[in-house]
Amino acid sequence: MDSLDTFARTKLDALEAGSLRRRLTPTERGTGAAAARRGRALVSFSCNDYLGLSHHPRVIAAAQEAVATYGAGAGGSRLVTGDHPVLGALEARLAQHKGAEAALVFGSGYLANLGITPALAGRGDLVVLDELSHACMWAGARLSGAKVLTFRHNDPADLAAKLAEHRPHHARALVLTERVFSMDGDRAPLGDLLGVAEDFDAWTLVDDAHGIGVVEDGPRAPLEMGTLSKALGSYGGYLCASRPVIDLMTSRARSFVYTTGLPPSSAAAALEALVILEAEPARRARPLALARRFTARLGLPEAESAVVPVLVGDAQAALDISAALEADGFLVVAIRPPTVPAGTARLRVAFSAAHAEAQVDALADAVAALTGRASRP
Ligand code: PMP
Repeated sequence: MDSLDTFARTKLDALEAGSLRRRLTPTERGTGAAAARRGRALVSFSCNDYLGLSHHPRVIAAAQEAVATYGAGAGGSRLVTGDHPVLGALEARLAQHKGAEAALVFGSGYLANLGITPALAGRGDLVVLDELSHACMWAGARLSGAKVLTFRHNDPADLAAKLAEHRPHHARALVLTERVFSMDGDRAPLGDLLGVAEDFDAWTLVDDAHGIGVVEDGPRAPLEMGTLSKALGSYGGYLCASRPVIDLMTSRARSFVYTTGLPPSSAAAALEALVILEAEPARRARPLALARRFTARLGLPEAESAVVPVLVGDAQAALDISAALEADGFLVVAIRPPTVPAGTARLRVAFSAAHAEAQVDALADAVAALTGRASRP
């Protein structure tokens, strides 16, 4: 057997050869869309703080007050001693916001997905997920032990075909999709997908990580999970569902039961962000409006959310454009396989209420210059 280090180096060499090696780059975030790398100021278009709430004075004050009063950490699993009342207050507000009976807060969105699917499906059951679903939906599906199939991205007819063939041979079936896809920014045809799922007696779990606070119209699924870390500017995850489902999760979602509760400060920040978000419709409308300003200027398909992909194709070419944009003063992340399918490396541009129109126009012009597109006001 190789030594551990030889094993790691061989793997790293292979990743390097495929432009797949990842490296951490220390990045300071400032207020609004400000960022800094290696001491250089940048305008960030790589942040999921879609409403700019992570730096809102009231959100910061709520977190500070919670830290000062209750300490930095929860101190235990929520079922033991870590269930601070602020988590219950946040859950009540989340459920109300989503029009659901109840909600449960998890340590992160990733942990939520890791716990929800295995608590609902197991051996002998079926999980069918959109082929572009986030890594944590895949992780939950695989962990469940159910048979896992995909349907073509945003294709209700293909979902129907998969369920027609496989549903009869399984006790329970769960359909997984996202309201807004994290790397493409497009929205799922939820009404149609929910209809198909119902026709085949399947439950549906929708990941609303990139929807809440930005894209809120459209039908609701019986299971809606999401994160507190994007438009809500904090950290943590949640599930909104009926009271019995939430009660079941409280006992059976292992990523809820066997992990430390969310720090009260994260919950307090998210709760304050939710209050602000509900009170300020103009703030909620801004990321999508800015994204559409960008796509119009570049002649790209109209943005459907705060996330806009600029497809490049080759992984190294995407990295090179991202580096050139950084030299121009913009932080725009290149997304490569395996996060996205091979040959579809891209720039992922994320818009925030904190951006100014002039910053969006300047980015569009810089992208146009680097990709050979036209940019027109
Ligand atoms: N679902 C989707 C679609 C996501 O994009 C993300 C975060 N990148 C998550 C879940 C995980 O959420 P969290 O960051 O809170 O773990």
